[in-house]
Amino acid sequence: MPRVAGAWARTWRIMSDPDSAGTDARPFWERPLESLSHSEWEALCDGCGRCCLHKFEDEDTGELAFSWLACDLLDCETGLCSDYAERRAQVPDCLQLTLERLPEYRWLPPTCAYRLRYEGKPLPAWHPLLSGDPDSVRQARVSVAGRVIREVDAPDLPLIDYVVDWPGQVPESARRWRAVVREAGGRGDGEARTGEA
Ligand code: SF4
Repeated sequence: MPRVAGAWARTWRIMSDPDSAGTDARPFWERPLESLSHSEWEALCDGCGRCCLHKFEDEDTGELAFSWLACDLLDCETGLCSDYAERRAQVPDCLQLTLERLPEYRWLPPTCAYRLRYEGKPLPAWHPLLSGDPDSVRQARVSVAGRVIREVDAPDLPLIDYVVDWPGQVPESARRWRAVVREAGGRGDGEARTGEA
């Protein structure tokens, strides 16, 4: 199962890399993916942890379903990988998300920054690169923090009891992010630091 979360915790403050930006004055998250440096690529991750959830595949139709069972390396309280730097040594099937392989990853959630940018869409306002606040991912109810359980800790329930739809959907609080922040007293334009959904 893929486990790609956590990069922003170290790198979300990164500015555009002059070597990769060239004459393009746009912020790196608006530039074509193929122009990004490694650090810019890593900083795109919002740390939601949705890609760290196990998925079930229907043998007949190939349809994928998310579960609320997380990788054993995930910190379920924060929604972040507990050992991002060494994750692939600990979990050999943790996938490396690369530009070349993005088309294969049809299971990436609709909120995923890599999926959005690959589809030519802008980052949403709750993304830490725009909000300036890593916690905006949790406030927008995009983070898995507090909503999932590690496989190793999971009770022995029928698999169907672990299937959930929400990781494959955009939460209403994320759609309404600007309004939610304004209602909480912020400006909703990147200046706000509050906005519990
Ligand atoms: S789903 Fe995308 S944005 Fe969220 S943690 Fe995974 S790679 Fe990062």
